[in-house]
Amino acid sequence: MRILIVEDDALLSAGIARILESEGHSVDVMKSGERALLAASQESFDLMILDIGLPGLDGFEVLRRLRLQGRPVPVLVLTARDAIDDRVHGLDLGADDYMAKPLAMRELVARVRALTRRGKAQSGPRLTHGPLELDTGSRRAYLNGEPLELAAREWAVLEVLLGKVEKVASKEVIIQAVAGWEEDLSHNAIEVYISRLRTKLESAGIRIRTVRGFGYMLEEFKA
Ligand code: CA
Repeated sequence: MRILIVEDDALLSAGIARILESEGHSVDVMKSGERALLAASQESFDLMILDIGLPGLDGFEVLRRLRLQGRPVPVLVLTARDAIDDRVHGLDLGADDYMAKPLAMRELVARVRALTRRGKAQSGPRLTHGPLELDTGSRRAYLNGEPLELAAREWAVLEVLLGKVEKVASKEVIIQAVAGWEEDLSHNAIEVYISRLRTKLESAGIRIRTVRGFGYMLEEFKA
């Protein structure tokens, strides 16, 4: 599982990271809410461990924006000891669980296990790109948190492009991903799917660039 820890206390985040890595998770640490939101918009995490007390945007604001953007990543909130109001507020904003500091690491591991299991049961891995999100388990797409209608082949093209942001996907690779074994899909057909995707995505600032004679590239998303 891929886990993002958002905590400005370097000692604490290093301790959490070490334990979760020993459990086989892949862990990223961000020290500020701004950077955490950016990371969550560019990459897909299975869980976020979010401290409330952060410099700049606090954990509540991070959580609020995360849910406003329609990101369904499970969030475990860390609060100061006995801060009942903080817990209630966090849950109201869409946190999935909370723990009070000081943390009991064994309990943390157990809660992380429960949360990642729950997330996995609901859906498959998610691919995100700015305001776009593909849930590969349920095969549903969301744009700015709203369901986005995609035909099966549009979905397949988009999945290829999302796997190679800022890298060129050749038409051959796209055709292989989209066509069934017996189908003979032309380069022109791919252009049609690309053009439909552009119509659906460009208003949200998502750009697919044509690399002439070769293929297509999903540009890095800039908010
Ligand atoms: Ca803190």
